[in-house]
Amino acid sequence: MDSRHVSTGREYRRKERRRRRRKKVFAPVFELLVLGALGFIGYRYFCHRDRLEIAENIEIPEWIDVQYIDEGNPSRTGWRLDGVNNIVIHYVGNPGTTAQQNRDYYNHEDSNVCSHFVVGLDGGIILCVPLYERSAASNHRNHDTISIEVCHPDESGKFTDASYASLVKLTDWLLHEFDMKPQDVIRHYDVTGKECPMYYVKNPEAWEKFKEEL
Ligand SMILES: [Zn+2]
Repeated sequence: MDSRHVSTGREYRRKERRRRRRKKVFAPVFELLVLGALGFIGYRYFCHRDRLEIAENIEIPEWIDVQYIDEGNPSRTGWRLDGVNNIVIHYVGNPGTTAQQNRDYYNHEDSNVCSHFVVGLDGGIILCVPLYERSAASNHRNHDTISIEVCHPDESGKFTDASYASLVKLTDWLLHEFDMKPQDVIRHYDVTGKECPMYYVKNPEAWEKFKEEL
């Protein structure tokens, strides 16, 4: 027999053994990964659906003033949320304006911005968009977030005690209703790097303190 054939045959058998061993090790790992990925997608899908169902059926408490923006207005597209994954906090960026003024601004025919909630200087809260619809406040995260704009008396962007207390109350209520955690509350800054809400971007320790109070 040609020695070359012998060695090729041996090599083939060795390779075959190695291939089988690899298959034995990697096939279950691969199956586990696929199952894990499917489980994760399923979990996310049902979470999203659940939270959307919550948003559709939520009972708005009497301490929230419901003043929906006119349908068909550029700032209210009517598009549904894909899910509710975060609550995004903003500041209005227009010192001294009231919640009503900001809500009316969103409702203006050439406004293309709006948030779900506006918290006023006196602590009053207005809901501008149904909670299952998208607002237009948080850029590429409008599709899966609920937005809260907060009024502020001056350029520092610091909220009044009344606004702050209402913001905590409102955020607590949302976290409870949607079964979310304080770490699900983020700043507009965390989405785009925009200096919003300004006081809580410049004072990250105040932001951490806010989240601890939730
Ligand atoms: Zn913002």
